[in-house]
Amino acid sequence: MIDFCSLNYQQVQRLFADLGQPKFRVDQFLAWVYAKGCLDMDAYTNVSKELRSLLRETIHFPRYTIESVQHSRVDNTRKILLRFPDGHAVETVLIPVHSKLSQCLSTQVGCKMGCTFCATASMGFKRNLSVSEILAQAFAAREIIEPHERVGNFVFMGMGEPLDNYENSIAAIKTIIHPQMMGYSHRHVTLSTCGILKGIRRLSREELPCNLAISLHAVNDEQRSFLMPVNRADGLHALMQTLREFPLSSKKVITIEYLLIRDFNDSTDDAKKLLQLLRGLRCKVNLIVYNPHDYADYHAPDEKRVLQFQRILAEKGVMTFIRKSGGSDIDAACGQLAGKSS
Ligand code: SF4
Repeated sequence: MIDFCSLNYQQVQRLFADLGQPKFRVDQFLAWVYAKGCLDMDAYTNVSKELRSLLRETIHFPRYTIESVQHSRVDNTRKILLRFPDGHAVETVLIPVHSKLSQCLSTQVGCKMGCTFCATASMGFKRNLSVSEILAQAFAAREIIEPHERVGNFVFMGMGEPLDNYENSIAAIKTIIHPQMMGYSHRHVTLSTCGILKGIRRLSREELPCNLAISLHAVNDEQRSFLMPVNRADGLHALMQTLREFPLSSKKVITIEYLLIRDFNDSTDDAKKLLQLLRGLRCKVNLIVYNPHDYADYHAPDEKRVLQFQRILAEKGVMTFIRKSGGSDIDAACGQLAGKSS
């Protein structure tokens, strides 16, 4: 059986050609799967019964069960726990942003990057998600949202490091932005990485216009290597150089994620050093106030310090936002995903 949602557009075309189907059937079928998000072939009224039964013998759709859905009382963020047939589970989070939802997708079960502030790191690494398992999270979201709701953005920022599961993460993004598949604009898809240089360089050679976000979180090698072991491999200087060389289309900027941790990286001196680091880089900065959890012993700075940090950057013309991290009461905020029942 072919795992249908792991196929790209050309592979779907080939499959339908092999089954003796005319080309127009491809887009007809894909519209049911991706535009309507319907995985029940019985509902495909404009697809002949013969073709449906042929496809039932040939392909399968993503296999998952929704084990739990937690609702934040604070901001209606929802966290879905999905379990796959092999017993592994991942979490995906839906965060209300204006009138739409932003969905945070996981790319791995666990993670091997070992960031010391992150709950996912405490699970260790279990395995990569397939393309269809990454997309399964989007199907699961459609099952649980209200009829008037819509996911408007996808951020690859959930459990796992997307560039450590490079092929599958990139293939999932291509399905999300393909006009005959999920049809989202590239402006609404963001890949977030802890800074794997090889992966960023490889990404720079793809013709993939999605947004890029970097979890920077520190202003010198000592600080960053302590928080993020990935930094020990190449260091901050090489990372910033790679980002400066990253080809950006005219309207795009790189998003710098900076987690503010009390008395660690939140001083005025840190803010000034961050300004120096960002020199020559087209970027905006998202300041994320640390979300406490059971897996690490860090603390959040108070609001005054956060605003002061923002002011120092903004005064020098750096677009700086304080990003609200949704769902901290259900452990759904940045750095809190731990797939607790996996
Ligand atoms: S922050 Fe991201 S890269 Fe780092 S351990 Fe957590 S999931 Fe992995």
